[in-house]
Amino acid sequence: MDLPVDEWKSYLFQKWFLLPKSVQVTISTAKTLSDIFLHSSSLLQPEDEIFLKRLSRGYLVEKDPNAPPFYREKGNSKFQEKDYTGAAVLYSKGISHSKPNTEDISLCYANRSAALFHLGQYETCLEDITRAQMHGYPERLQPKMILRKAECLVTLGRLQEASQAISDLESDFATKRTLATSSFQILQKNLHHLKKKVQEKESLPETFPPTLAKTFEDMDLKEENEQISRASSSVSLCTDPLKGRCLIATKDILPGELLVKEDAFVSVLNPGERLRHSLGNKWDTRIANGDLYCHRCLKHTLATVPCDGCSYAKYCSQECMQQAWELYHSVECPLGALLLSLGVFCHIALRLTLLTRFEDVGKVTSKLCDEISNSISFPKSKTLIKTLNYNQEENEDNGKVVKTPIPGCDISGKYENNYNAVFNLLPHTENHSPEHKFLCAVSISALCKELEAANLQAFATGLNSSKLKAPVTPQLCADFNIWGVAMLRHMLQLQCNAQAITTIQQTESKESIIANSRQVRLATGIFPVVSLLNHSCSPNTSVSFTSTVATIRAAQRIRKGQEILHCYGPHKSWMGVAERQQKLRSQYYFDCSCPACHTEELRTAAGPRWEAFCCNSCRALMQGDDVLSCDNKSCTESVSRDHLVSQLQDLQHQVGMAQKLLRSGKLEQAIQQLLGCQRDAESFLSPEHTMMGEIEDDLAQAYAALGDWQKSATHLQKSLRVVEARHGPSSVEMGHELFKLAQVLFNGFAVSEALKTIQKAEKVLLVHYGPWSDEIQELQKMRSCLLDLPPIPGGPLGL
Ligand SMILES: [Zn+2]
Ligand SMILES: [Zn+2]
Ligand SMILES: [Zn+2]
Ligand SMILES: [Zn+2]
Repeated sequence: MDLPVDEWKSYLFQKWFLLPKSVQVTISTAKTLSDIFLHSSSLLQPEDEIFLKRLSRGYLVEKDPNAPPFYREKGNSKFQEKDYTGAAVLYSKGISHSKPNTEDISLCYANRSAALFHLGQYETCLEDITRAQMHGYPERLQPKMILRKAECLVTLGRLQEASQAISDLESDFATKRTLATSSFQILQKNLHHLKKKVQEKESLPETFPPTLAKTFEDMDLKEENEQISRASSSVSLCTDPLKGRCLIATKDILPGELLVKEDAFVSVLNPGERLRHSLGNKWDTRIANGDLYCHRCLKHTLATVPCDGCSYAKYCSQECMQQAWELYHSVECPLGALLLSLGVFCHIALRLTLLTRFEDVGKVTSKLCDEISNSISFPKSKTLIKTLNYNQEENEDNGKVVKTPIPGCDISGKYENNYNAVFNLLPHTENHSPEHKFLCAVSISALCKELEAANLQAFATGLNSSKLKAPVTPQLCADFNIWGVAMLRHMLQLQCNAQAITTIQQTESKESIIANSRQVRLATGIFPVVSLLNHSCSPNTSVSFTSTVATIRAAQRIRKGQEILHCYGPHKSWMGVAERQQKLRSQYYFDCSCPACHTEELRTAAGPRWEAFCCNSCRALMQGDDVLSCDNKSCTESVSRDHLVSQLQDLQHQVGMAQKLLRSGKLEQAIQQLLGCQRDAESFLSPEHTMMGEIEDDLAQAYAALGDWQKSATHLQKSLRVVEARHGPSSVEMGHELFKLAQVLFNGFAVSEALKTIQKAEKVLLVHYGPWSDEIQELQKMRSCLLDLPPIPGGPLGL
């Protein structure tokens, strides 16, 4: 997904290995990125481009006029099953394939408005009704939709508008009578009903608008740092001979304190697994990221608005669409399929350069190329040379103290979320394998060729005159080589500097009563300020995202002078030390010496506790490689690893079957199966084994579905212990588990226990997400609901 698709990758690797040795050596030993780029791109042959084009053709990114009726029909059947979310997504897919101002698009918008109405999303429902009308919704179908509009307005308390809609409709009936008598009667009845509702509402005293919705959502840093934009004044930017740039606490920091709040300099939505339709499945009905999140700002929405030119870019609003178009999409729009083939990194590299516009790319690269090798003849920029030499000049002029410039900072020494900072992120050119650099360079070169062609065509056909605004970069022809080198640099930087933008998604299933949540990767972005943080497998901060904004909070107390650290992915509660070290070395090119790695290495190579086996007879831990023996000196038990592994696989299979029963609502059977699994698991797995937690979690799920909240809570508490042992008591995972327990206790009216758990969950989640997150708001709602309960005479409430 990040890198080009496998077919193109293996095609180019083969090409690489067939190159004459001398050419390989030239590229392998090239000192500068521009040399690598120029040598590699000169090897791109027309047949390579044809191969890539054929590969790209498999992605459906254009509008297919036959698709809307198909999706509408699929949506209608979801609607009938009362799966309104599923229906809305399918209507959106239909919309994205429709041309503007057609019956197709207006019908899809109208149907989607109905789905949104049933989901209680009245505001968006109204927007969709307006869109349906704008695109020419058929006259004969109007009355039903206007009625829906009136109903929304009534619910939202916009009574005047509602009355207006109703009277318009009535006069319409009086004059036109285009409806069959039977449907006319139904509509009249509904209308009458609605009028009564308006009257009732009007007689009520005016209420305040529903909660002053999250006025403080955009809470900002208490005090912004003068040296680093988007960072708190509690940190400062330093350089260390070993670690390079790092952030250090300038005062004691408390858990939960906001340290960095930064909007991505660039981000690209993850397309998810998109099947190429050569697999026979032309119109995909599955839900992908692009169906639920805005292509530009990543806001969650069921009511997407598509680009007029393609079917893959969908936005949360007209405004987002317009902005994206002006900033980059006018160039990207016709390249959708190619960009999918070349992967997310290539796409980010392109978007980065589009966002910064060419002159800047030229300036920054020319200077950098100059520094590395004097043989390059790129145009020079005086301002930039000045930028990079400011410290020397200062010394010469005023004889000031020598200050080593920190890479990425501007003349005044300030580090900002800008292209200069992005450009200065390390590409680690010398660490990538030659064939990887070749893959990246040729891919970028192919992209440049395509852009050049598209640009020439745009000039030739005068695309500028069409409804879509002129492409942003007419000066784009300037020099594709400068541009290509910059993109290559970005593509190489991304391996170490790409930040996954994640979100917590509620797994929606009708059967599960307890909301299960999972983290999903939404997009990939570059955050120059976040990139200043170094890695630890056991970090002292926690990162979360709202749209494209990353928020970093202290996850624990950080003392003055300590380094602020976050985790690049290999976290100690997800991987054992050996696996982490391997991953950090191969992707990030360093050996981790964080305290977690240090202490774990000292211990025996027993592997993580959540994967440990225990003795069948005495329950002590089992240790060893091929043959494991009991840790307990007085016990002689030993067993082969293969045996234990196959026993675990068997158990996984059994648990899988239980989960199937659970999903199909066969709760009693599921419970019996799970209890069997539990007995089995206890005989050979450590009590902290992940599988133990999973079984308890499933049991809790099953009892909750039966309405047995007490048993559900008991099992959830056991699963909680497993989570705590693995992730720690103040981890975000623990927060989510406590949240679940709070829900179960809440549902069971176990007031005092629920309140206690709510408090615990709040304490943990506050640190990670801050006070205005959905999770915290939900917990507060639960609390006030419990505190409002009238006391019930005759005994304590509780489980
Ligand atoms: Zn948006
Ligand atoms: Zn488009
Ligand atoms: Zn480590
Ligand atoms: Zn034993």
